[in-house]
Amino acid sequence: MAYGDDRNRGFRDNREPREMFDTTCSDCGKECQVPFKPTDGRPVYCRDCFQKHRPADRDGGNGGRRQRY
Ligand SMILES: [Zn+2]
Repeated sequence: MAYGDDRNRGFRDNREPREMFDTTCSDCGKECQVPFKPTDGRPVYCRDCFQKHRPADRDGGNGGRRQRY
């Protein structure tokens, strides 16, 4: 079930150039890898959950401003 959305990336052809760290997602609890060293006490999310948890919809409800610098 978890496989199937990776068809765009042939990850048996190339090794990842970045160093990846094994960790467990703090949301769904599945094993994943992150491109940074997991810090104790901070939640780490897999890619799917990271998308859910990223603070993107903070201003998205009112349809006004989407970007601010
Ligand atoms: Zn997750």
